[in-house]
Amino acid sequence: MSIRRASDGPYTTAVSEEGGQVRKEELDPQARALRRLALAQIRQYGDPALRMTAREVDRFDHDLERLAERMIALMRDASGVGLAATQVGILQRVFVIEAEDEEPRALVNPRIVERGAETAVDDEGCLSLQGVLVPVERHHVVTVEALDLHGVPLRLSFEGLPARVVQHELDHLDGTLIIDRTDPESRRGALAELRPKPVLYG
Ligand SMILES: [Zn+2]
Repeated sequence: MSIRRASDGPYTTAVSEEGGQVRKEELDPQARALRRLALAQIRQYGDPALRMTAREVDRFDHDLERLAERMIALMRDASGVGLAATQVGILQRVFVIEAEDEEPRALVNPRIVERGAETAVDDEGCLSLQGVLVPVERHHVVTVEALDLHGVPLRLSFEGLPARVVQHELDHLDGTLIIDRTDPESRRGALAELRPKPVLYG
């Protein structure tokens, strides 16, 4: 997932060619190039993997660690705050998250076991839906049970943006995208943005 806080106003802090769908800091030319390379390795809207349901992980081996390392590197290069395995074409229930100055971490077989009653609507972007930013309602607080990369059980509570990221990434593992969660008008706008555009060769 990628973010732009609603309080930033329209594209004031970090304008990118992807349409403001970046973290708050300005990206220098090298960071922009890294971001483009990362996005080219992340499945984009229209790719069937994004609509598939990922399977539970049952092997906690070196391959799983390497997958998590690769996903964390891609998430960082893409200036994202979360990335799900389905977004790199791997149908396993794993996502990575890095939010609010915490170390990036991988959660395996995650599930939400508690949801706070309070919800909030805020704009969300997605590394697989470039140029799209739509309002999505999420629970403000969620508690997650998951496993770490070694199969050790974890129980974690998230609040605010990290809680939003967790809900976004969990959706990915079930083939659900932000355009499925937004209001009809925002969805229409997003689909228009995602429609393939004519390419000029020259
Ligand atoms: Zn996403």
